Amino acid sequence: MLPWFVRRTRLPLLSLRCVDCQSESATTGAGRFRVNANSKLLDVWLLVRCVSCDRTSKLAVHERAPVRSFDPAELDGYHANDPELVASKLLDPLIARRNRFTLDWRGAWRLDTPPARPDEAWPVRVEVVFEDPVPVRPERLIAHGLGLSRNEVLRRIKCDVPLRRTRTTGFAFTVMAGD
Ligand SMILES: [Zn+2]
Repeated sequence: MLPWFVRRTRLPLLSLRCVDCQSESATTGAGRFRVNANSKLLDVWLLVRCVSCDRTSKLAVHERAPVRSFDPAELDGYHANDPELVASKLLDPLIARRNRFTLDWRGAWRLDTPPARPDEAWPVRVEVVFEDPVPVRPERLIAHGLGLSRNEVLRRIKCDVPLRRTRTTGFAFTVMAGD
């Protein structure tokens, strides 16, 4: 079994319309939270800015949540703008839905494959591991990873998941011998 890894190379941009300039692209930059305490309730926002005009907007991470409901380490992470916490909140589908943005993964990820061995015997089994939830179409990923045409992929690949349906989770496939 050959492992392939899909991993991010940076944080993705956000597809989010700017209320000032109508641009549809925003960035977290290095990643900054704002925490606001109101008696025993906390609001936590992730700050993002428009890539065209720099206007800052706030994405709700927690709204009026009781202080005691927070894990102290998580709260420290918000105050310290912990990069891992920034990434996990940005990639959280619930937060994306609530704040009405989608992620723009173009240029923000790569596929790592082990070097091909010359003695490789067919068929070859490959397992694709997603270290980050990058939406990819298996057909295109496999064509890219093996340097095959889309037609060759359809001919030589055996796979239990639909090759044309975009997914963000792991799968495995078998490469049959060529002609
Ligand atoms: Zn703008």
